[in-house]
Amino acid sequence: MDNLQKLKKTSIRATDIAAQYWCERQMELNYLFGEKITKEKMDSRIKGTAFHEELERETATVPIILMPMSYADSLYKILYMSNAALEALPKNGRCREVQIYGKLNGFRLVGKIDMLEIKDGRVSIYEDKTKTNEELPSEPQLKSHKAQVITYRKMFDDIASARYTADDFRKDYRTSGLKITQQFAMQLDSLKVPKEEQSIDRIAESLFASFHSLPQLSDNIYLRYTSQLTGKEIKLYKFTYHEEEMKSTLGFVLSYWSGERESLPVPEEEKWKCKWCGFFGNRCKVWWPQQKL
Ligand code: SF4
Repeated sequence: MDNLQKLKKTSIRATDIAAQYWCERQMELNYLFGEKITKEKMDSRIKGTAFHEELERETATVPIILMPMSYADSLYKILYMSNAALEALPKNGRCREVQIYGKLNGFRLVGKIDMLEIKDGRVSIYEDKTKTNEELPSEPQLKSHKAQVITYRKMFDDIASARYTADDFRKDYRTSGLKITQQFAMQLDSLKVPKEEQSIDRIAESLFASFHSLPQLSDNIYLRYTSQLTGKEIKLYKFTYHEEEMKSTLGFVLSYWSGERESLPVPEEEKWKCKWCGFFGNRCKVWWPQQKL
């Protein structure tokens, strides 16, 4: 049994990959026993979500109100919104919240890109993170978030190079048998979406076509940190994407998902992370005997 089955998951999320680079054992325990979240972490997450929603409103071309009633409706909405964002990208120079799909050694891979920007004729990927303080992110934070944006860059490249296609998506998500509800179709009618485009397969084809219509991908990938206290940018990091780094980044996480190895706890030099972990001393006692964190 691979670890995707063990965790009762059907896809690897790009955020799972980031979490593996923070503490893989914690990521696994979160899925097995439910996330143990402190009040501070919850407050921070709420603020982070509000920040992302605000950014999305800033770049949205038209307010789209769609109320899904089923799984098929929700999937349609995600594809529709992402496609609308990509279609607006060449005109506006940037867009936000684009769902992306792909595959990694047979495992379904999914994520949501925070921002795409066209700079010097090329498309760059941005990942936005918020911080509860105004300090620069630690090296382990950067490493974890960088793994996420590297994953997006690889997924985008796979779509652009037709290594992952609308047909692969249709098979992976068995979309041909999915039908949107009547109520949802009426909402699409009011947005003047033609009847022939009101199927998951058609909107998925449009989304993949929109990815293909974009300019070439840039090798620059960006990580931006913003303060939740002031809303000011703390720092924008620019990295160069390298194929070799992507392979080693994803190779490490895959060895876990394929079941080759067990989940890894943090190494000794990072046991300070355990102080903020809800599993410390209960589900995970790896560093419990050395409590001096
Ligand atoms: S206690 Fe430490 S090693 Fe264990 S899951 Fe939490 S962060 Fe990871």
